[in-house]
Amino acid sequence: MSMDNIQMVDLKGQYSHIKEEIDCAIKDVIDSTSFINGDKVSVFANNLASYLDVKYVIPCGNGTDALQIALMALQLKPDDEVIVPSFTFVASCEVIGLLGLKPVMVDVDLNSYNVTAKNIEMAISGKTKAIIPVHLFGQASPMEAIMEVAKKYDLYVIEDNAQALGAYYKFDNGKKQALGTIGHIGCTSFFPSKNLGCYGDGGAIFTNDDTLYERMKMIANHGSKEKYHHKIIGLNSRLDTIQAAILNVKLKYLDEYCKKRYEAAQRYSYAFKDIEEIITPKEFTYSSHVYHQYTIRVLNNRRDELKEYLHKNNIPSMIYYPIPLHKQEAFLHLAQHKGEMTNSETLSLEVLSLPMHTELDLGTIAYIISKVLQFFNK
Ligand SMILES: *Cc1c(COP(=O)(O)O)cnc(C)c1O
Repeated sequence: MSMDNIQMVDLKGQYSHIKEEIDCAIKDVIDSTSFINGDKVSVFANNLASYLDVKYVIPCGNGTDALQIALMALQLKPDDEVIVPSFTFVASCEVIGLLGLKPVMVDVDLNSYNVTAKNIEMAISGKTKAIIPVHLFGQASPMEAIMEVAKKYDLYVIEDNAQALGAYYKFDNGKKQALGTIGHIGCTSFFPSKNLGCYGDGGAIFTNDDTLYERMKMIANHGSKEKYHHKIIGLNSRLDTIQAAILNVKLKYLDEYCKKRYEAAQRYSYAFKDIEEIITPKEFTYSSHVYHQYTIRVLNNRRDELKEYLHKNNIPSMIYYPIPLHKQEAFLHLAQHKGEMTNSETLSLEVLSLPMHTELDLGTIAYIISKVLQFFNK
């Protein structure tokens, strides 16, 4: 069996199923010519707020802006410290440095790929003001314990939920809550390949806090509430009306999309369960998993060899992320890290993400599985 054209993410295939609805939504916006702040933007904000069961959603330009606006709203002082995992996409940490604050990086857990409350607590100093937990690859950081630490030390929590929109956290008492709505602020991205992706750049911020909402709304709009009256320094960060129209269509399918990813993940994990040199993604009772990425660990230094083997068989794979942030040149002078960073370093050498999207058919999954098994002589 051979296959060509297997993709990490199949946006074209996904579009083909909803083409009519999407084309119609885009055309409506063009006909209306309200390209900026058209009705569809507030409609989408309301739709997403009810989906997440959160009081406020502020759409903005992209996920990185969302994080920056969230941090700006906390009104921190230069050199105040913000704790962030070292094993994440650069944006989670970049905005901290950009605002003249000090990123303090902490190690993640080898099994969940996410930050732990214990590592966070170890890194807290008198200057710590906020924590940015990231729900990496589609699964929650341990939010209940993180919120307890935050409460104990009076810290803000900004959830970076760019990779886990649609996932929920399950508290000890059984209560379920959407990721991104548990901390003081939640941020997400609608980058095309994210679980809820638009057709360009887009992002959003969530909060249940009235004061933070008012401030963040102003910051995203040049620091003004009333036109040409600027109360604070802000930025220009908007979700285009066309993108909002697309997202209104796609939000209806988000749960179905998450389910498709989940099912593909189950097939991979079942097929790989007897390969000693692979550690499949672990699932935890406190979180649903929406598999933004299906990321395995390949042991015994064989990750790159497997990647090359898959590539030769027309199967793409990606390394998210090859260098932990505490080793990135941009942060060497600025960031400090607390404690051992061995897990982040190990993961950067072992992780491999396999094709994961909503259009993976059984034949493609079977082909990918067969090549992985073949590589391990199974
Ligand atoms: C994608 C992503 C972002 C940034 O989103 P953009 O829309 O690309 O700016 C931030 N954090 C994480 C974890 C991401 O995966």
